[in-house]
Amino acid sequence: LVNRSFKPQPTVVDVDGVKIGGDDIVLIAGPCAVESREQLMITARAVKDAGARMLRGGVFKPRTSPYSFQGLQWEGLEYMVEAREELGLKIVTEVVNTQDVERVAEKVDMLQIGARNMQNFQLLREVGKSGKPVLLKRGLASTIEEWLNAAEYIMAEGNPNVVLCERGIRTFETYTRNTLDLSAVPVIKSKSHLPIIVDPSHGTGRRDLIKPMAMAAIAAGADGLIIEVHPDPKSALSDGPQSLKPDEFDDLVKSISKIAEVL
Ligand code: PEP
Ligand code: MN
Repeated sequence: LVNRSFKPQPTVVDVDGVKIGGDDIVLIAGPCAVESREQLMITARAVKDAGARMLRGGVFKPRTSPYSFQGLQWEGLEYMVEAREELGLKIVTEVVNTQDVERVAEKVDMLQIGARNMQNFQLLREVGKSGKPVLLKRGLASTIEEWLNAAEYIMAEGNPNVVLCERGIRTFETYTRNTLDLSAVPVIKSKSHLPIIVDPSHGTGRRDLIKPMAMAAIAAGADGLIIEVHPDPKSALSDGPQSLKPDEFDDLVKSISKIAEVL
């Protein structure tokens, strides 16, 4: 189902009116984690003003340490819904367990499968059954073949609305948090009809590298970007070092537009 040879024309995933994989580059931005209503609303307004059409915000956070902030859970999800109501941004959040899929799917426009769950096959089946558009991140150390097979699990349940997200893989290099594999973009385009976006925030882990890698992702043919933005990254409860301040996001969008213009 994922294979281009079975469906030569590109798939356009319609997230309640926002089309990913069509002519427009779609920008998804927002905090790594929803921390409070105020933090979310400030961020949501800023990213909307800068040109984002979708809001990201984690409420169930898969943290490396069990002692790190785990997210506001269902309360955070309500803040995401409020932000959509107030601003008209479409919302995407990560779902981490099968029992929550239905309840989360009722609230959001798109479900995210995080890198750590890319091969959680039961979870993939469940988001497949939900029928909601799915943002499928590449696993921490997954090959493109494994990643496409994960997409196949979702599609095999009758859900064709899968958007792939390259977010870096683990390599021997430790200078960056992950190694952003931008060659995945044209590789996916040649192997599959599915749209692909890039996450330079998790892909690099470093604020100073996000703009250049975002520009490179668009030049490589990505259908969009997902970027972490926080009003005060120093105080962020997760991923502060890779979060852009609102004015930095605004600057990134301007640079992206220039790249898109010349393509
Ligand atoms: C995220 O986008 O919030 C996230 C946890 O990313 P990843 O699953 O790519 O690590
Ligand atoms: Mn994050």
